[in-house]
Amino acid sequence: MKKDPILPGATIGCLGGGQLGRMFALAARRMGYRVHTVDPTPDSPTGQISDREFNVPFTDIATLTEFARGVDVVTYEFENIPVEALDALASNVLLRPGRNVLYTTQNRLREKQFLQANGFPITPFRVVQSESELREAAQALGCPCVLKTADFGYDGKGQQKITYESDLTDVWKRHSMYTGVLEAWVPFAAELSVVVGRGQRMMEDEERETLAFPPTVNEHENHILATSVAPAPLADSIQARAQSIASAIAKELDVVGLLAVEFFLTKRGDLLVNELAPRPHNSGHYSFDACVTSQFEQQLRAVCGLPLGDTRLLSPVLMRNLLGDVWANGTPNWSGLLALPGLRLHLYGKSAPRAGRKMGHYSVLSETLEQAREIDAAAQMILKR
Ligand code: AMP
Repeated sequence: MKKDPILPGATIGCLGGGQLGRMFALAARRMGYRVHTVDPTPDSPTGQISDREFNVPFTDIATLTEFARGVDVVTYEFENIPVEALDALASNVLLRPGRNVLYTTQNRLREKQFLQANGFPITPFRVVQSESELREAAQALGCPCVLKTADFGYDGKGQQKITYESDLTDVWKRHSMYTGVLEAWVPFAAELSVVVGRGQRMMEDEERETLAFPPTVNEHENHILATSVAPAPLADSIQARAQSIASAIAKELDVVGLLAVEFFLTKRGDLLVNELAPRPHNSGHYSFDACVTSQFEQQLRAVCGLPLGDTRLLSPVLMRNLLGDVWANGTPNWSGLLALPGLRLHLYGKSAPRAGRKMGHYSVLSETLEQAREIDAAAQMILKR
């Protein structure tokens, strides 16, 4: 296996061909690396800018082994990869973050149990495996609460909010998966997230180099991230606490690469960890335009055993996702959008703009967040016309 550091000219393997892999591949290519990607669907956003794209399901171990032989290190851009595939890869090539990181974070229950066992603050929850357990758990946690699937949930998929009026027989029928996690509803003051990079270099304190990006405050619409802003309009002490919790989780999980940590800030000022993702995160897209080093370059540096880059924020920034809904009246007015000062457009090369599908995003860089919000409001008007 390759020794650290893995230098420019080497080939990086990326499991998953979505927009996160695409932006990672852009960062890798800029620094002179080659990229091979695996995604079941041809012409994936990552595949479009990779040297090689393997279009096979993640269960095709023979092709994954061939893919592993052609690269120097493998990373991933999404979590729903069977661990059997990772096991097969890990015996042939460096896999970063490692197999156990993915195993823990790809399942909501394992993730929560890991966080709980290590004393990190989380939302109260119960495991439910039947309608009667759901009834007991809803009684214990009180309503509202939210039922989530343990496996394969993202962007609010597989989630049902439960109120005192809900028919729990119906809720359980719709849930249809074996294991569920019932969570107390948090009437949060804000949602924030932190992306942390953790590298290979040992520092003076005998710890691996770990650097957090500036936190963002996030707003969701229909459970999908709509906007993130930085600097987060929150007290410095809260931001520092979020960065320190996120770094401690990355250490406890022994991540080499990135870890994104989403938090709820309660009205009392407590931080509760909502979700982890061992990869670049949608809420970290702002770093592409607004930080010295982007989350994608940081992922590259970390998995290649290079020094981590400076995460400093260079400008106030607002990032907004562009979902397929924006195409409802045909091709959006890109020229109008690009005429706005400080707006940078990112499109992911996806051809079918389905409602709710993440097609791209823009970042607005301005002197102040207020100005960025005004430009965003103008952009929204242009997109609605
Ligand atoms: P998740 O997929 O768990 O990140 O949930 C998506 C979004 O749903 C979150 O970002 C919140 O806006 C909302 N949400 C999920 N769980 C809760 C909860 N327990 N309390 C309040 N809001 C929640």
